[in-house]
Amino acid sequence: MTPKANQPSVYSVDEARDAVLAAIPRNKKTELLPVINSIDRVVSADIIARHAIPPFRNSAMDGYAIRFSDYRSKQTFKVVGTSLAGHPYQGEIPQNAAVKITTGAMVPTDADTIVIKENTVTRGDSIIVEHPPKLADYLRYAGDDIAAGSRLVSAGTRITPAHAGLISAQGIQQMEVCCLPAIAVFSTGDELTEAGNNLQPGAIFDSNRTTITALLKKAGFPSTDLGILKDDEHEIAQTLKQLDDFDFVISSGGVSVGEADHMKAALEATGSLHFWKVAMKPGKPLVTGSLANGAFYFGLPGNPVSSMVTCLQFVIPALRSYSGHSYRQPPHFSALSESTLRKEAGRFEYQRGNYRVGTDGRLTVTTTGMQDSHVLHSMSSANCFICLEADSTGVDQGEEVNIVLFDTLAGVAG
Ligand code: AMP
Ligand code: MG
Repeated sequence: MTPKANQPSVYSVDEARDAVLAAIPRNKKTELLPVINSIDRVVSADIIARHAIPPFRNSAMDGYAIRFSDYRSKQTFKVVGTSLAGHPYQGEIPQNAAVKITTGAMVPTDADTIVIKENTVTRGDSIIVEHPPKLADYLRYAGDDIAAGSRLVSAGTRITPAHAGLISAQGIQQMEVCCLPAIAVFSTGDELTEAGNNLQPGAIFDSNRTTITALLKKAGFPSTDLGILKDDEHEIAQTLKQLDDFDFVISSGGVSVGEADHMKAALEATGSLHFWKVAMKPGKPLVTGSLANGAFYFGLPGNPVSSMVTCLQFVIPALRSYSGHSYRQPPHFSALSESTLRKEAGRFEYQRGNYRVGTDGRLTVTTTGMQDSHVLHSMSSANCFICLEADSTGVDQGEEVNIVLFDTLAGVAG
């Protein structure tokens, strides 16, 4: 990733995301996976239907296959055989005869209409058709779902259970998907303590590694845990030099301008720094760059809400883009704010809120309360971001705001 000429010293959220996405190559590596293991993965090449689906004309209901032209009012049909799913009727159908048929069973060549079982009365080895059928009732035609030779799934599609079903219906066992990136995650900070240890005075337990790893996992990206690094530029630089096997390296903490903030210097010593300031709250200091091996590096801010928000807004879109997805903005909805929202002009803010759908179908949203970037429960108790533009100076109760539902964000939603 090479810094662009004339780059701003502070990026807007959109500029920062565009710059990140522009610098991310598409992963060329692919792997062959069983269809069931391909859920949420991205197909690397179009999948073409080998067979028509359904492969043959079949019945949509349990009943009797007849020739429509045989039908007269209250007609009696002699039942001359059965066509069960997997056991087609072989042979011809004499005049005024019917073949008993089940859902999905092949319709005999001579038949053109299905009379549903509910509309018949059985008399010995015959049936009486009680309600007049219509020509071609309850027929499913070969290829009316998928035509042979048509494109079943396009390259770049993220496989859902329905796609996997379509692919399985073709008898395909394995499929080619884009490889996942190799991702390393670590935390930095002398105060950070690994869970299970005693907390010394002034220390805190590391929670960012958990939230970042969990967001990535939920978005479909397993990662490797590199633990906690001290606030030591040399140690950090040494570690960054040893991460040749990774495509992405993600750390949190140490990216601001404090005495113990060494990430920028360590990155410049081992790779290159791209930009590190985004006009957003939370998450203003955000270091991006590349390591000597070409791995993309994200230095997320240490504050727990900031690291989560920047992971959602930049890291996950980058990982998805690398893995074959095109970036799409999540939908923004307009909601009536039931809270007064405090804000200073200058930075775009992702405040945390709770939306509700009123009885009139309209969305309302309330704040989760204190919005400081260390207040992690503002994330855990929220179900949406309230997006406030950089020039906004706050919102009065009763004003409309834009919200993004967590359910629509990769990393929070599955
Ligand atoms: P920093 O960006 O390193 O200046 O950290 C900003 C704030 O986030 C400080 O209060 C840190 O203690 C806190 N912090 C940094 N890393 C973590 C972490 N991994 N888990 C929880 N809090 C952290
Ligand atoms: Mg720190």
